[in-house]
Amino acid sequence: MLFAHDTEVSLNATAALVNTGRGGREELPDVAALDRFVAAWRWTGSRTHDQAELDAVKRLRPVLARLWGMTKDEAADLVNTLLRDASALPQLVKHDGWDYHVHATAPEAPLADRMAVDAAMAMADIIRADEFGRLRVCAASDCDDVVVDLSKNRSRRFCGLTCANRVNVAAYRARHSVS
Ligand SMILES: [Zn+2]
Ligand SMILES: [Zn+2]
Repeated sequence: MLFAHDTEVSLNATAALVNTGRGGREELPDVAALDRFVAAWRWTGSRTHDQAELDAVKRLRPVLARLWGMTKDEAADLVNTLLRDASALPQLVKHDGWDYHVHATAPEAPLADRMAVDAAMAMADIIRADEFGRLRVCAASDCDDVVVDLSKNRSRRFCGLTCANRVNVAAYRARHSVS
């Protein structure tokens, strides 16, 4: 493990959130889809389950997506802005069977604010460890999903097995076709 457990979960959750809006698909079309996303990533804390909450999360998404195209200095500025705007206050907490980890927002803060600060705290870790280069875009030519490469040897190139298999099969066919 490269980073603290909660940092790695947050980095993957941030990439997953960004990817709900990539590739011309809308994977958060309604509140029910947001409920499924929140359950899948085990977000705790307050929810309003309404359109305003969904809209706020969808407004956050392109802001976070910009991190994948930024320099480290630009990302540091954005992280600071996100933390300042939400008046982030890091606290060690234990809950729901998780051992100590950091929350920098109160559980009653709006979901989008908690997502923004959680992403910003995880990005702060990756930037100060000088590992910002681990933010990548999937190497499959027909996929623009974002990835945080948390592998030991920085070898992760694809967003998931589907893209890895598709590209490997195409490469295999190219190698074995007679021209
Ligand atoms: Zn927690
Ligand atoms: Zn992909």
